[in-house]
Amino acid sequence: MKCKICKKEASVKLKHYNLPLCEEHFYEFFEKRVRKAIGKFKMFSKEDKILVAVSGGKDSMVIWYVLKKLGYKAEGLFIRLGNGVMIDRTQEIIENFAESIEGKLIVEDATKYLYGLSTFEAARILRRSTCSFCGMVKRYLMNKVAVEMGYDVLVTGHNLDDEASQLLGNILHWQKGYILRSWPVLEKTHEKFVKKVKPLVLNYEDDIRLYAEMKKIPFLRETCPFSIGATSKIYKKMLLTLEEEQRGAILSFYMGYVREKDKFFKEDEEPVEIKSCEVCGYPTTSNVCYFCRSRQKLKVKLEKRQKAEG
Ligand code: AMP
Ligand code: ZN
Ligand code: ZN
Repeated sequence: MKCKICKKEASVKLKHYNLPLCEEHFYEFFEKRVRKAIGKFKMFSKEDKILVAVSGGKDSMVIWYVLKKLGYKAEGLFIRLGNGVMIDRTQEIIENFAESIEGKLIVEDATKYLYGLSTFEAARILRRSTCSFCGMVKRYLMNKVAVEMGYDVLVTGHNLDDEASQLLGNILHWQKGYILRSWPVLEKTHEKFVKKVKPLVLNYEDDIRLYAEMKKIPFLRETCPFSIGATSKIYKKMLLTLEEEQRGAILSFYMGYVREKDKFFKEDEEPVEIKSCEVCGYPTTSNVCYFCRSRQKLKVKLEKRQKAEG
């Protein structure tokens, strides 16, 4: 098997492209796709102050590494969603990695906003679905840290498979609003809403894993136990089954959306007014944002509990 570009011995074969490449040309191919996403969707420039949300999984570790390698000013943010050995271990892995790439890392503790509880415990008390509550807290804190510390843009590690499966779910249920907003860039629409981008949107998850392994980038393989059975995973599995039969189907599905979105989907409703939360000042469509309302409710519930326990 020879590298398609230099004809030297290939070290990988990218199954989604049926493309054999040597190590050097695989890295080049992979990074070129990241650069393409950054340019095509006008994500950021070398002057921008970038904050990468790092979970310890392969995607966010790889994108932080690649952005540093390409010469961007990219710093990291890890949000502690609870306490315990697993979270300490994750933080340690990210801290060591940050040191190895000479990247500054910010650690934000979500439990300090939840009266010492983890997002999982708070969700249980509030009787909310763990994944959606945890996701809401993560998004709120990512935005808050980025705004308060003066970053121009927030990067997450969402990849092509993630975005395509989300799109499939939204199309399946014809959720037009979500379809319109699943774009890889969310522009700044409020003084306290930082621009959000997904530079791995053109890279297949398998290639990201391969890149991490070959570059010896450390990452956690465990996925969150609460996400098992999530519907987004079903869509991803279906798309991967389709991809087995039709090579390139996922990329073609997603790129069709990128090309045709404006033709097929138009914002026809009046855009909802974005206000500032009366409590925290961050953007919301109601008077008090969902994060602050959850905190208020949690406080009441915890006080009731304390009283009952005497
Ligand atoms: P997930 O929603 O867990 O699939 O993660 C999607 C992206 O959100 C990751 O690629 C990270 O960029 C970011 N992310 C998830 N969890 C955390 C966390 N605890 N701290 C910082 N960023 C996170
Ligand atoms: Zn080569
Ligand atoms: Zn608020």
